[in-house]
Amino acid sequence: MLVIMEKGATEAHVKAVIREIETMGYHGISIPGIQRTAVCIVGNQGTVEDSRLLALEGVKETIRVTKPFKLVSRETHPQSTIIPVGDIMVGGKQPVVMAGPCAIESEEQALGIARLVKRYGAQVFRGGAFKPRTSPYSFQGLGEKGLKLLKKVREETGLAIITEATDCTNIELVEQYADIIQIGARNMQNYSLLRRAGRATKPVLLKRGLAATIEELLMSAEYIMSEGNTRIILCERGIRTFSDNTRNTLDLSAVLSIKENSHLPVLVDPSHAAGRRDYVIPLSRAAIAVGANGILVEVHNDPLHALSDGMQSLYPEQFATLMKEIRSLAV
Ligand code: PEP
Ligand code: MN
Repeated sequence: MLVIMEKGATEAHVKAVIREIETMGYHGISIPGIQRTAVCIVGNQGTVEDSRLLALEGVKETIRVTKPFKLVSRETHPQSTIIPVGDIMVGGKQPVVMAGPCAIESEEQALGIARLVKRYGAQVFRGGAFKPRTSPYSFQGLGEKGLKLLKKVREETGLAIITEATDCTNIELVEQYADIIQIGARNMQNYSLLRRAGRATKPVLLKRGLAATIEELLMSAEYIMSEGNTRIILCERGIRTFSDNTRNTLDLSAVLSIKENSHLPVLVDPSHAAGRRDYVIPLSRAAIAVGANGILVEVHNDPLHALSDGMQSLYPEQFATLMKEIRSLAV
């Protein structure tokens, strides 16, 4: 339930509402808006009896939130959320492009690709230092050494950094180095990791699980937000279906569904969806055309020798083409 405060309600009024909610055995979270403040009630199992709340000073009305996700719901927060990452506005007018290799392999590789993607217009550099690989024998990432290289990339290029935390043992380290913490598809329902990401001081990019519904994705985002971190970016990266012509099936209607049901920005990752580089540019165009707030895309200077996901990584020149095409679509 949402308790909508009057326009002139004071902070003391809001605090009194939260106190009353606590005495009822629930938890109240204040959501300041442009027009007025709302207080979201979480932790209730069934319907909440609102007469005690309506009687309080400064309370205008109560609204029932029909969805199981509350804080991330558009019912709770009708305006779309913009997440600032330095001076980059994720969810703003311009689509945001996050590009780089699947994994950080060496200083030369990371800096080389970073300089190129920056030249062609990327705002954020991606690259995994901790890699969630299907096989335990595949390259698992450089760990902290990779994070240090990412720091160097930021210092040399000014690009913001997104990199993945794969479990509760490395998220603290990732948090120190990254500008955005990525939670991967395989971890979308790792609830202890989600809770820890919810206490992080950096924005989180949460990828949709391989077999997760939109409601499940939004419930996972709710885990993060319920711990206090409101800076969440969602990402559609393809789901597992019977269709085997691509690595995964890019669900573009997920963008519409997420936007209908949540105020959070949503990106599309065409690389992990397609699994092949020749599909990445057309799928990126489609993602922007359907209204995604940007893309997360893999680029490698030498894809044929990449230690991970080379098949789906764009050559830098292809990335340049992609940027041109996106710019013409976005205006
Ligand atoms: C990645 O971005 O490199 C990655 C591992 O993605 P996903 O979690 O979507 O598979
Ligand atoms: Mn990858």
